[in-house]
Amino acid sequence: MGAGIALAALAGLMLGSFVTVVGYRLPRGESVVGGRSHCTTCRAKIAAYDNVPVFSWLLLRGQSRCCGDRISARYPVTEIGLAILYATVVAVFWGEALEIALGLVFVTMLMAITLTDLDRRIIPNKVLLVAAAAAVVIVAIGDPGSFPERAIAAVAAGGLFFVAALAHPKGMGLGDVKLAAVMGLFLGRNIAPALIVALLAGSLVGIAIIAREGAAARKQSLPFGPFLAFGGVVGLLLGDQLIHLYLTTFT
Ligand SMILES: [Zn+2]
Repeated sequence: MGAGIALAALAGLMLGSFVTVVGYRLPRGESVVGGRSHCTTCRAKIAAYDNVPVFSWLLLRGQSRCCGDRISARYPVTEIGLAILYATVVAVFWGEALEIALGLVFVTMLMAITLTDLDRRIIPNKVLLVAAAAAVVIVAIGDPGSFPERAIAAVAAGGLFFVAALAHPKGMGLGDVKLAAVMGLFLGRNIAPALIVALLAGSLVGIAIIAREGAAARKQSLPFGPFLAFGGVVGLLLGDQLIHLYLTTFT
C-alpha cells in the first residue's frame, strides 16, 4: 500500500503540473495539448529541466530563468495539493479500484476549476464534460448498478443550484449549476454532505469578509467554485461517515 500511495503522490505532482497549464490556457482560449510550455511574460520556451514540478520552482526561487519574472506560487501549491489529494484518495479507497479511479478524476477536475474560477471566474465546460464523460465510462465498467443514484444526485444538485441561481443571479452562476450536477454524478448520495459543507464554508468566509471589510464588501460576490470543490473533497473522503453521523444523531 505504501508504494501505491507514493506512486499516487508522484502522479499527483505530474498531473498537478498539467492542471496548472489547463487552468491557465483554457480560459484564454489556448490549446491545452499543443505547444511546449512557455514563459507567460516573455513567451520564451521553458526547458524540461526548468519544468519539474515543485523542485524547479524551489531551485529558481520563484523566478523564471528567461526574464527573471516572478513565477506564481500557484504552480507548486497546485502540484503539492494534488499530490496530497491523490495520495489520500488511494489511501482511503485502497482495494476499491472503482472508487480510486473516480476519486482521482474527481479531485483533478476540482483542482482545475478552482484555479480557473479564482483566476478568471470561469468554470470551463470542457473540464466538466471531460470529467463527466470519464465518470460515465468508469461507472459503466465498474458499477453500472449505481447509475440511478448518481443520476438522481446530479439532477437534484443541478436543480437546486439552478433555482438558487435564478433567485440570486449575482451570487451563483450557471457554471456552479453545471459543476454541482457533475459532482452529483461522481458522489451519488454523498452530494448532500458535499453541498452542505460547500454552503457552510462559503457562508462563513463571506461573513468573515464582511466582518473585516465592512458593508462595502457585501457588493462583491465570491466565486463559489472553490467552495464547491472543498465540499466535494469532504463529500468524497468523509461523505459516508457524515451521513452515518447524521442518521445516528437525528433519527
Ligand atoms: Zn520569461
